[in-house]
Amino acid sequence: MSIARPHDLGPAAWERDAPLATCSGYRTGGTARWLASPASVEEFQEVVRFCRDEGVPRLVLGGGTNTLIADGRYDGVIVSTQRWTGIEDLGGGRLKVRAGSSLRGLIGRAVHLGYAGLQGLIGIPGTVGGAIWGNAGGASRAGSSLATEERWISRWVESLTVLDEQGRESSLRGAELPWGYRFSGLGPRIVLEAILALEPGGDAGALKRETRRLYLRKEETQPLRAASAGCVFRNPPGESAGRLIERAGLKGSRIGGALVSERHANFIVNDRGATSTDIEALIERVRRVVRREHGIELEREIIVTGGGRG
Ligand SMILES: Cc1cc2nc3c(=O)[nH]c(=O)nc-3n(C[C@H](O)[C@H](O)[C@H](O)COP(=O)(O)OP(=O)(O)OC[C@H]3O[C@@H](n4cnc5c(N)ncnc54)[C@H](O)[C@@H]3O)c2cc1C
Repeated sequence: MSIARPHDLGPAAWERDAPLATCSGYRTGGTARWLASPASVEEFQEVVRFCRDEGVPRLVLGGGTNTLIADGRYDGVIVSTQRWTGIEDLGGGRLKVRAGSSLRGLIGRAVHLGYAGLQGLIGIPGTVGGAIWGNAGGASRAGSSLATEERWISRWVESLTVLDEQGRESSLRGAELPWGYRFSGLGPRIVLEAILALEPGGDAGALKRETRRLYLRKEETQPLRAASAGCVFRNPPGESAGRLIERAGLKGSRIGGALVSERHANFIVNDRGATSTDIEALIERVRRVVRREHGIELEREIIVTGGGRG
């Protein structure tokens, strides 16, 4: 396939034969024919229409912190949202945020304004768009009165502006979407912007202390500083994938530079120059051993994409 460079986009928006390791939480992965980084709605539309018209596959990436990008070459366009950032305070607990803004930055801004609700999502890296697309959520904790759904970002989504596969812009109310565990139902639509409706009138100092406490608690149990894409497997109903993996004796298991974390068995980390192939092989080993030991088929939570996969 020969992709001509689309001339009507700004020169900074397109990079050819781009290495993708810097786009992934794992810091691994091959190259992409094109890496496009739109910085306006019109540029997003151009990229989407270019892909449609040329029949070129595309992949949207926020922070890449839930994604393993395969080794090899992706013969399509990676659409990075990293240049599409900004948060606007609409007052009364409502924040309008562009999809490429970091979730951490959004939480910091909300806390500063005394808007409560997002503190439980602290420690989740990546962008707001990625968090909404995958309905990111804080972990369930014993003794807490919050229901699981209360911990998902979906609880706070008032509305979204999205682009469809034709590049058409539209608005959706949060309540229209079939939210579930790590699921938004957004499919191929690109999230451009979200309005979140939080609880106004909180004490900024108290919210900041609570957020710090929750971060430290997450840090105690998860390898937040290592290169990873978070929990590799979804929790089976009524079970914890991490516990199943730990009970199967897999903590510390290694293939090449990929390691099952000693701190949390549902994390595979890039310990020493891992390749995506190492990580994928270790994911398969974990799945196989858990199936053999517990008779349970683990389902992947992280997204594996890129390379020759489309
Ligand atoms: C240390 C660590 C801890 C983590 N803890 C948690 C946790 O507690 N809870 C949790 O839920 N997750 C957790 N994660 C996983 C991950 O951080 C979240 O899923 C995060 O929300 C992903 O955001 P991202 O921008 O990096 O998404 P990416 O990995 O870039 O993308 C994920 C998916 O979203 C799509 N996407 C991204 N942006 C858009 C957009 N604007 N429009 C449409 N689709 C888009 C991509 O195409 C892809 O399919 C953790 C990860 C790490 C590394």
